[in-house]
Amino acid sequence: MPLVKQIRRRGGLERLAKQHGLRLTRQRRLIFAILESAKTHLNAKQILEQAQRLEPGIDQVTIYRNLGVLKRLGVVDELDLLHLRGDQHYYEARQVRAHSHVACLACGKVFEFYTSAIKTIDRELEKECGFSVSFTRIEIGGQCAACRKSGREAPLPRKGKQAR
Ligand SMILES: [Zn+2]
Ligand SMILES: [Zn+2]
Repeated sequence: MPLVKQIRRRGGLERLAKQHGLRLTRQRRLIFAILESAKTHLNAKQILEQAQRLEPGIDQVTIYRNLGVLKRLGVVDELDLLHLRGDQHYYEARQVRAHSHVACLACGKVFEFYTSAIKTIDRELEKECGFSVSFTRIEIGGQCAACRKSGREAPLPRKGKQAR
């Protein structure tokens, strides 16, 4: 899976937290560090598992609460990745370069696609609507090269609502 993470500048989290008068607890740093070093998009359960390896006392409620804080700070993004796996949500550290998420509806593979077209959209929006863009998120669904080659088309079965 081609996944080149462009990590935000070091110290970005500290600076933002200070601006918002937010204390960076050890748990917040831990969750952010996990997301920053992740090679793929993680759901809350995967974040919990990784966090517990480093800090056994941490629980799911703490993970959700702190993910919410990091989201409000704008350093973490929550993604639904086209709901390929039911209502599962994924998290990633916000990257300096905007990217789109491309998901194969047949096999569920998700990869990140960097294109200057995102900048073009931002510029057009600003020019035509006077809108200042903070971030752009694009999700694209389709059929990947491998699935096209093997003729795999069946969409993944949609799961019902999941408690999380
Ligand atoms: Zn595929
Ligand atoms: Zn991503």
